[in-house]
Amino acid sequence: MADSCIFCKIIDGEIPSAKVYEDEKVYAFLDISQVTKGHTLVIPKAHCKDIYNTHPDTAAALFSRIPKIANAIKETYEPVGLNVLNNNEEPAGQSVFHLHIHLIPRYGENDGFG
Ligand code: 5GP
Ligand code: ZN
Repeated sequence: MADSCIFCKIIDGEIPSAKVYEDEKVYAFLDISQVTKGHTLVIPKAHCKDIYNTHPDTAAALFSRIPKIANAIKETYEPVGLNVLNNNEEPAGQSVFHLHIHLIPRYGENDGFG
């Protein structure tokens, strides 16, 4: 747990979130700013800043949950596609410095993303 990290606070329940999935290593929740309906963030419970600073075991745990969560999103929202994204460092668009994977359901050309 990093004291000033908002995603660590979300994991601890100090900041409320709309939970999508949780187990002992991974937490997934709806992004507060939905770029499309069902936009979800998947994070490791172990704090790591970005992909450069992530232990391979943590990365393996994180990525191993993606298919299950992606399928849950597919079932719930019935998108026509899904983007899996990860931003590292500010110039690449990272704004929260706790590693996270964006799952962005797609609904066609005019869905507002991309
Ligand atoms: P990044 O820009 O770092 O790749 O993505 C960070 C994401 O975290 C953004 O899409 C932003 O909307 C989301 N976010 C920031 N603060 C909160 C929060 O307090 N709750 C939730 N659910 N999402 C947040
Ligand atoms: Zn953190």
